[in-house]
Amino acid sequence: MSKLPSLMDDKAPQSGANSNTKDANSKPPVLERLRHAVATPTGRAVFGIVILAALAFGGYRIFGAVNSGGADWPRIRVMDPETRDLRWQDVRPGATMPYVNPRTGERSMYVVEYCFANECGPAGGTPAVLNNYLDKEGPTICTKCGATVTAHNPRPAEYASVQPADW
Ligand SMILES: [Zn+2]
Repeated sequence: MSKLPSLMDDKAPQSGANSNTKDANSKPPVLERLRHAVATPTGRAVFGIVILAALAFGGYRIFGAVNSGGADWPRIRVMDPETRDLRWQDVRPGATMPYVNPRTGERSMYVVEYCFANECGPAGGTPAVLNNYLDKEGPTICTKCGATVTAHNPRPAEYASVQPADW
């Protein structure tokens, strides 16, 4: 008589322990549920879509990387001296100056030098294209302040590390 309750008492904690260990063992019920889900036609369809999406995304990533060449090409600041359109140009193999101005479709964009002389310094620099590139005679003159602009145009010391305002 007194054994029965004790047996039950013994069982109770055991089953409790079992259910505890079961909980611990079946900690990924998600996997269990996934297996169930995949067993159904709808689940399989959803699973298939997920796989397809993953593959498509992977393909896009790979294709995108090949297509864009990544963002690893050095970029240079270029300007159209006629329109004064400015943009960043990826320097990838085969890209040669003059670069295409996407606004006009003309090959009319050239590497920019910045003038930081006179009022151009406080104004954040004035972009200029060297006459050299345009097959023009004579020195290149800043359109804003009239200073001479040369290749690797030197700047006043206080503007040595200043980023041009139009970047
Ligand atoms: Zn200037």
